[in-house]
Amino acid sequence: MKKRKIAVLGSRSVGKSSMVVQFIENHFIESYYPTIESTFVKSVPYNGTEYHCEIIDTAGQDEYSLLGPKHAIGIHGFVLVYSVASRKSFDMIQVIYDKIIDFCGVIDIPCVIVGAKMDLKNSRQVDSADGERLAAANNAAWVETSAKDNVNVANVFELCLAEIEKR
Ligand code: GDP
Ligand code: MG
Repeated sequence: MKKRKIAVLGSRSVGKSSMVVQFIENHFIESYYPTIESTFVKSVPYNGTEYHCEIIDTAGQDEYSLLGPKHAIGIHGFVLVYSVASRKSFDMIQVIYDKIIDFCGVIDIPCVIVGAKMDLKNSRQVDSADGERLAAANNAAWVETSAKDNVNVANVFELCLAEIEKR
């Protein structure tokens, strides 16, 4: 069994915890204590192999809260989450990406960029094309999800394993 550590990063309230809980426990939580960081484990079959995944659901980052070394060092793959209903959270993705690159001292990391809350059709502020472009520019995978409707949630972690295995 292969062990993989995945960190979930992004601005506060973009839907990180709801996505992780939907993946681990198969239900949608309305709200999760926002300042708590938790680690979840799940065995994920991918490409004929069983992966023991340790998923770190962080408390969230902004311009001022520093991304710690423990969110960058020893992590195999990164899931960077914005909300499609928040332009500000989308703009934070590049900032967070650059911080990770800085910490890791590499030019490329296994990464999935996630546009969460795609069910919020009427309050969308980020086009799919913008998400795709950002991912392409950073050599990352990209997907839009809804933890509420359980759309593409499992894909996020499969894409992340794929990005890790690519390198
Ligand atoms: P976090 O701070 O990034 O961990 O965000 P949370 O997972 O705690 O979610 C923040 C808020 O967004 C909560 O009120 C959630 O119910 C809501 N939320 C999370 N995911 C979705 C989603 O897919 N669709 C909708 N409509 N709301 C969501
Ligand atoms: Mg959270």
